[in-house]
Amino acid sequence: MIILKESQLLRKNIKKIENKNIVCRVDFNITLEKGKVLDAFRLKSILPTIKVLSKAKRVIFLSHFADPAKPGSKYSFKPLIPKFESILGIKLNFIENFKVKPKDKFNLFENTRFFKGEKENDEKLAKQFASLGEIFINEAFSASHRQHASIVGISKFLPTLVGLNFEREINLMNKAISGKRPLMLILGGAKISTKLPLILKFINRADVIFLGGGLANTFLKAKGFEIGKSLVEKDQELIDELKNIFNVKIFIPLDFVLKNKKVKYLGEIRKNDIILDIGPETIRALKDLISQMKTIIWNGPVGYVENKNFRRGTKEIAKSLLTQDKNFILVGGGDTLSFLENEKLINKFKNISTGGGAMLYYLANETLPIFQ
Ligand code: ADP
Ligand code: MG
Repeated sequence: MIILKESQLLRKNIKKIENKNIVCRVDFNITLEKGKVLDAFRLKSILPTIKVLSKAKRVIFLSHFADPAKPGSKYSFKPLIPKFESILGIKLNFIENFKVKPKDKFNLFENTRFFKGEKENDEKLAKQFASLGEIFINEAFSASHRQHASIVGISKFLPTLVGLNFEREINLMNKAISGKRPLMLILGGAKISTKLPLILKFINRADVIFLGGGLANTFLKAKGFEIGKSLVEKDQELIDELKNIFNVKIFIPLDFVLKNKKVKYLGEIRKNDIILDIGPETIRALKDLISQMKTIIWNGPVGYVENKNFRRGTKEIAKSLLTQDKNFILVGGGDTLSFLENEKLINKFKNISTGGGAMLYYLANETLPIFQ
């Protein structure tokens, strides 16, 4: 578990950034739907840091955007500047490359993945990023499970601090790791492969591990259940590994909502059925379990929430968690947050992590590549 020292915290070193040129790594890797930013929550989570950064001489923000094979206008930050300005309430100047001089107080550099060596954590590129300022601030918790030049490499060349939100998230993770029992993990989403390290880590630490959504399908299939034509991962090694997990703490759905909106119990699924949500019996059992917990960690929707017919399970979990106001509830995951934002429930949760992959990484490994 990482215990951040005062010397690593922006919060404790505000004086050091006064009148300095700052490079700040943020996570502006947004999802757009019909021109609307689905993950404004992640952007807004850095507002306190932006306020502190107004004391700096100049700030250059670095972020990746999607995973483009090559630079192109589709993944340039340039057209998104007005959206960021309105969400963040600042004037933001766009910087296309290393040759262009920053103009305003706040500047956003072009998509870091447009530059060769970002994903390879190339030292030369890291040095170039570092040349943009005198102090580096990492305010991209949700991207910090990646060993990239603008996250890990750059901090070798500049004095480095972590931002206010980063600090908040590490504290949340630590609180979840040492959370009071009974502790429950609620996992949904598409792939069990990305969440397996967390499951294995928490098998001794949790009292209940609920598997829902697409990831439960793969687990069920590994255990020999018919799941029809539902979303599944086919990797045989993964299936073999899942087959050998025997643990009474793992709670699988009892019933499901199918694509044709009919409800079926686990044993009734036939080869043409498609599972798209958890069913009412499962929801009832989950609510009962949730009410008995002291710590709950939730990551991933338990249904195909892009379609309004299959949101019920995820919505009921959210509502049930909100009745648990005395206990520690940590919620994270990109799609989980977009869902809660869309349902206007996100602001009701106290402990939200902007990290999907980073949250899973930290909870499983108790550290991040930047600390290694
Ligand atoms: P998060 O980003 O919150 O960590 P994931 O990325 O792991 O979540 O998974 C979210 C995706 O999982 C959503 O697109 C959702 O539609 C999908 N999903 C969940 N359950 C199912 C299901 N039964 N069938 C198909 N897709 C599902
Ligand atoms: Mg996701």
